[in-house]
Amino acid sequence: MMILKEPGEINNNHGDVAKTISFELDIIGRPTRFSICVAQKQARLSDITPLARMLSTKLAIIVLDKLHSNGEFVPCRKGCSACCNYLIPLSVPETFRLREVLAMPTEQGRAVSQSFLDTAKIILNEKSKKFEINESAETSCQIQINQLSKWYASLKLACPFLSNNLCTSYEHRPIACREHIVTDSALLCDDERSDESQIVQIPISILHCLGQMTAELEQSDIEAVMLPLALPWVQENLERGERTWSAVTMVECFVEILQALNIEQSKARTTKIPQLCS
Ligand code: SF4
Repeated sequence: MMILKEPGEINNNHGDVAKTISFELDIIGRPTRFSICVAQKQARLSDITPLARMLSTKLAIIVLDKLHSNGEFVPCRKGCSACCNYLIPLSVPETFRLREVLAMPTEQGRAVSQSFLDTAKIILNEKSKKFEINESAETSCQIQINQLSKWYASLKLACPFLSNNLCTSYEHRPIACREHIVTDSALLCDDERSDESQIVQIPISILHCLGQMTAELEQSDIEAVMLPLALPWVQENLERGERTWSAVTMVECFVEILQALNIEQSKARTTKIPQLCS
């Protein structure tokens, strides 16, 4: 329904393509052209997730290439799960998509769903007992997220997708995981030792773009969902998951936000962490 194409890959063989949306992004000083072929169909929020994941992976590859060519050491690799005990935010489209993945009637699908439900029970139980967030107007969204992240890290819960230090859903992993890159040592993923100068700022946060796109389409606030709470959250938002828009309208909205963020972030590359709102 929405396919990301490399330059030169576009041909006219896509019978149901309603529109090809082409745009250029400045990726750490490297102008990069993208094209998205969009079908003449209605789309639910979850439908944009594969495209968004693909784009975030491409951006991460460009960033990794640049780091390697600068001689920087990046410790992220298979078997390292240093960042898999922390709060992973999901955008709303990813949350609806995740439910579809977890609903797969396979043994692994059932095991992971159970792990999600077990983790969600612990979080909801602990949250009602000891979590307090300062939601006053003076407390910025970022400070509230930091408070929530610290509280979550204190629970020492592994991600429900993690098994034997491996991500059991690497192909479907959240965009937040794709956008988390550190240099030097994986020890810096430890909340106690984290040094923000070693956290690589992704040139454009696709997670942020999806949050903003959802808010614009639904005329709502920007939201993020804690990964282990995805299933109960979806249960409470079933109607939102079924709502549709023209796929072209959705992609145009996404690309517009992408370009605006790119201009903003190219101008000021000072922020270290993508701005997320819950
Ligand atoms: S989804 Fe995979 S990569 Fe992301 S935190 Fe969970 S186990 Fe780690």
